Amino acid sequence: MTDPIEREGDVWIARASGTRWRVVCGLEVHAQLRTVTKLFCGCPVEFGAPPNSRTCPVCTGQPGTLPVMNEEALALGVRAALAVGADVAPWSKFDRKNYFYCDIPKNYQISQFDRPYCTGGGIDLPSGRRIRLHRIHLEEDAGKAIHDRGTTTLVDLNRAGTPLIESVTEADVTTPEEAFEYLTALKEILTYAGVSNADMEKGELRCDVNVSVHPEGEGWRTKVEVKNLNSFRNVAAALEHEIVRQIAAYESGDEARFPVQETRLWDADKLVTRSMRSKEAADDYRYFAEPDLPPVTVDEAFLERERALLPELPAARRARYQRELGLSEYDAGVLTADRGVADFFEATARLSGRPKDAANWIANEVLRALGDDEFAATTVDELPVRPHDLSELIALVTGGTIHTKAGRQVIREMLATGEPAGEVVARLGLEQVEDEGQLEAWCRDALVGKDAIAEDVRAGKDKALGALIGPVMQASGGKANPQKVREILKRLILEG
Ligand code: ZN
Ligand code: MN
Repeated sequence: MTDPIEREGDVWIARASGTRWRVVCGLEVHAQLRTVTKLFCGCPVEFGAPPNSRTCPVCTGQPGTLPVMNEEALALGVRAALAVGADVAPWSKFDRKNYFYCDIPKNYQISQFDRPYCTGGGIDLPSGRRIRLHRIHLEEDAGKAIHDRGTTTLVDLNRAGTPLIESVTEADVTTPEEAFEYLTALKEILTYAGVSNADMEKGELRCDVNVSVHPEGEGWRTKVEVKNLNSFRNVAAALEHEIVRQIAAYESGDEARFPVQETRLWDADKLVTRSMRSKEAADDYRYFAEPDLPPVTVDEAFLERERALLPELPAARRARYQRELGLSEYDAGVLTADRGVADFFEATARLSGRPKDAANWIANEVLRALGDDEFAATTVDELPVRPHDLSELIALVTGGTIHTKAGRQVIREMLATGEPAGEVVARLGLEQVEDEGQLEAWCRDALVGKDAIAEDVRAGKDKALGALIGPVMQASGGKANPQKVREILKRLILEG
């Protein structure tokens, strides 16, 4: 059966009825703050530790214990707020969000309800659209319930009490692609600002979406929440699926099929969403103010300190690389996607004085090594090559000591062993041959029997020289300086 719903940009068109459908979507993102210890106790935040080994009476909810706020968590949360241009409340408070579940030992989560520490702000997407933020609040994470052990559920409380910020957008997202772009931009900002490592594989960034559809020009309809989205690609795929599912349901005219307010889970294997629980009424968490914690206050001095720690953010860097260093939009995007790479690039550009060469070597050789098992590094900081090493290589190539092609061989050796460029060049004997006598001998050999080409060159067709340079380079094992070869060939032909 062919799909009866077609898409044109941000409009979905039902072929049978001709109705034009629009999408309304908001995103909720939980990001784990990069603190050493938990939000309300001194337990270390550590992924992958033995189960229940990073716990204490506070984060396991023992009676009589009291939470103490981690100042660093607030500092990082405030920095995130500043990074997205949001307003930080001078006064906010914590609340208890009450619910019963095995991974939440106190039977409530300490969160912020009606007075979050941060409101407003937004992120400008590369496409030019702006996704506004409604709010960001601080809260503690729950533990982990592990259900895949037959009839037994295991509980690991190492994660319980880990500091999170939950950011909630306005319903400004209109396509799956925008959701993907927004999440990418948010992750970049959080990692640049040092707020979160935002590693989705470790659950440090978790995303839920709210989505509804309505005919163009009509009011909004019932929204559905989709959870269990563990990659940005999954978010986009789940949205795409859910949009079509909802439109098809309305188009069927069968009210029993119409979307209801509920939470659905994304099944990444079967590529469908399925109902988890219905939400006929709003969840009743019976929030009330947390009596064991004082209000959260942020004064001007605190804000100033965090503002001073805010680095230049990725969008600003991209613009500057294009404006001041003459990089293409594409290269600027590649080099700023990760702060470590951007810092590596800037240091190399500064040390070598050649930003475009630095950009090329990094985009083409260094980043490729990161994706390659051979080099056992997943971040640029783990590579044995540092910016001063790369700038040394750039100097060897631009100064004519080695050929660009030899340079690529050198950088691979450097990436594998950490050996300095100069030593690799010496060890492999890659210096270009500059000796005039040797170069001339190779050129004379290449000219034997090539009278027709020589004739063309004499007639002013310098392009014909190309056919002679190849054999000379080959004879030299790639080490002849091609510029000099060209000059010598021309001189010999014109003299001869
Ligand atoms: Zn603890
Ligand atoms: Mn939450």
